Amino acid sequence: MTSYADFYRRSMDEPDDFWTEQAQLIDWQQPFTRVCNHDKPPFVHWFEGGKTNLCHNAVDRHLKDRPDQAALIYVSTETGVEKTYSFAELHREVQCMAASLQALGVQKGDRVLIYMPMVAEAAFAMLACARLGAIHCVVFGGFASGSLASRIDDATPKVIVSADAGSRGGKIVPYKPLLDEAIRLSHHKPEAVLLTDRGLAPMNIVAGRDQLWSDLRVRHIDAQVPCAWLDSTDISYTIYTSGTTGKPKGVQRDTGGYAVALAASMKHIFDGRAGETYFSTSDIGWVVGHSYIIYGPLIAGMATLMYEGLPTQGLDQQPDGGIWWRLVEKYKVTAMFSAPTAVRVLKKQDPALLKKYDLSSLRALFLAGEPLDEPTARWISEGLRVPIIDNYWQTETGWPLLTVANGVEKTPSKFGSPGIPMYGYRVKLLHESTGEELTQPNEKGVVVLEGPTPPGFMQTIWKDDTRFVNTYWKSVPGKMVYSTFDWGIRDENGYYFILGRTDDVINVAGHRLGTREIEESISGHAGVAEVAVVGVADSLKGQVAMAFVVPKDSSVLLDAAAALKLEGEIMKRVDGDLGALARPSRVRFVSVLPKTRSGKMLRRAIQAVCEGRDPGDLTTMDDPAALQQIKELVSAD
Ligand code: ATP
Ligand code: MG
Repeated sequence: MTSYADFYRRSMDEPDDFWTEQAQLIDWQQPFTRVCNHDKPPFVHWFEGGKTNLCHNAVDRHLKDRPDQAALIYVSTETGVEKTYSFAELHREVQCMAASLQALGVQKGDRVLIYMPMVAEAAFAMLACARLGAIHCVVFGGFASGSLASRIDDATPKVIVSADAGSRGGKIVPYKPLLDEAIRLSHHKPEAVLLTDRGLAPMNIVAGRDQLWSDLRVRHIDAQVPCAWLDSTDISYTIYTSGTTGKPKGVQRDTGGYAVALAASMKHIFDGRAGETYFSTSDIGWVVGHSYIIYGPLIAGMATLMYEGLPTQGLDQQPDGGIWWRLVEKYKVTAMFSAPTAVRVLKKQDPALLKKYDLSSLRALFLAGEPLDEPTARWISEGLRVPIIDNYWQTETGWPLLTVANGVEKTPSKFGSPGIPMYGYRVKLLHESTGEELTQPNEKGVVVLEGPTPPGFMQTIWKDDTRFVNTYWKSVPGKMVYSTFDWGIRDENGYYFILGRTDDVINVAGHRLGTREIEESISGHAGVAEVAVVGVADSLKGQVAMAFVVPKDSSVLLDAAAALKLEGEIMKRVDGDLGALARPSRVRFVSVLPKTRSGKMLRRAIQAVCEGRDPGDLTTMDDPAALQQIKELVSAD
């Protein structure tokens, strides 16, 4: 068995051999002739000359060995639907969907925008696009018309796939009126709209444009649609970033490199094995949903569990804080992927729920998307008694760039650190203003990547190479490196710690502090459920830190004396951990913090409100009331 250090070194020193080996994890219809073309940096072409297909690798390839094994397990606690599709059944549904899209005029290279709740049809549609070589663009379901319209104009889809409605916590969210309004607002008009009717909300059908999946399904149920063999460098999909720091960017991905990257990560990082079950609690609207609900697990020959609903509701729509553990037991989930924000929700539930089910199938819980604070990590790790594996990546990277490669070597995780650089990624820390490389342990800098970026990494920004180069590759003077726009440090053992986004760094009297460092200290206080720290302009010090805290005990919100006491304790704690410079000038208590729909803290918006500025693009925000609460607190001063 190779050590991870050797494995990593090989990916750096002999990249062609290394990736040729990884490429054997998938099927190629035609072998590639060049592993990595990096002639025109920062652009990279992986596996040139090769022909393959994502849908073939995710579905058809498994028909020989495991046709009757579960492929897609669909569970909705919103509608009570629970249904398992074998690989053979999935193959049939995907071909039917592909034939339906073809009937609507979809051909290779056409865009198909998917605006869907978490229903099995959404998975069929993604795989059907991949089958035909059409480019899918999944837009998170439930986005308002304006956000959807701008994405329709950017992607210019021939067909839009949608549904009557989504549902969240038992509340129906009609999609069709939002979609109709978005199409009215957009300049580009799709030729057809393919609709799944879940029977949740009435739909206004536009004659000549709107088609019902139930009608097309009957017509095409026995259709045989072969996979289109695509060039490795052909576009598989585009997806927008979460929009935490600004206008979402249309990330464009290839076919062959992505398939290889996912197959390799399923093996080396997630230690997932064919025949087992993978459960990612994300949404298909995010990159985690693309890589680790749909493509990754299926390429690995695993069953993937697709879940619609809150983490705290049962199939009978009654509250059930143990639903995810119930599913782990029932489907013998071996690897689970979620986000710290979900774990923090579960942390408020009865801890006995973790003991109620047989979770012995589970080998690891992977968490990503935002910093994993130590108290949350410890709580879930003690409850589940499996390794909790933090992993750091971005929509742009497509798969983890910092974590531990559990499938290569059982490298221990460190609380607070997502881990070490993954194979293929040349990770560096640079001084933010001089661009100098930081080589000593515990120096703070910007996390960057040196090219060539590995397979699976974004090819460019859709239709905008210039924006791709200017946004990501030109932020450090004199060096062409990819900036993650995250701020971090590396300890003496090579473990990285993410300190926050570069926009979030606070500069107090010339001292640079990551919001994360202060948040980490505050969240260590037993009375704190959740915290966001932002830097606010200050005429004297340049910036000061301001903390917004959700107290564990909500009575603090109504009791001024208790709030004052807790504020004092929190400030003292930060003084002790980080020094008085880092001490927030105020600690304010709120019942909920503003986040994106994908659970990321909107510090940018909080900061703008604190400084009396316009918070800008908030289309991806989850609960507007959260920001309103902060606005009221701040303006009361
Ligand atoms: P936008 O780029 O539009 O502002 P976004 O950066 O939130 O949105 P994503 O690609 O979904 O969009 O998120 C990636 C970011 O999430 C990372 O750059 C990092 O800031 C944060 N992140 C992801 N995983 C982790 C992790 N394990 N620890 C700390 N931060 C993480
Ligand atoms: Mg980002």
